[in-house]
Amino acid sequence: MLFDDSPRVKEAFITLADHCIRCRTCMAMDAEGVNLDLPCEDADRLNEAFKQARRTAAV
Ligand SMILES: [Zn+2]
Repeated sequence: MLFDDSPRVKEAFITLADHCIRCRTCMAMDAEGVNLDLPCEDADRLNEAFKQARRTAAV
């Protein structure tokens, strides 16, 4: 994956990734180990913050 060097973008990504590995909802899997990709309000919010950070960093 490509990231620019903006610390704000990195931080937003790390916050999102960190949430995803700790959150039961985000980590929920079926019997075959396939991620169920359940909707998670926190992940949505962090995802949005990450996208926002990338957009503003690109300017
Ligand atoms: Zn989550």
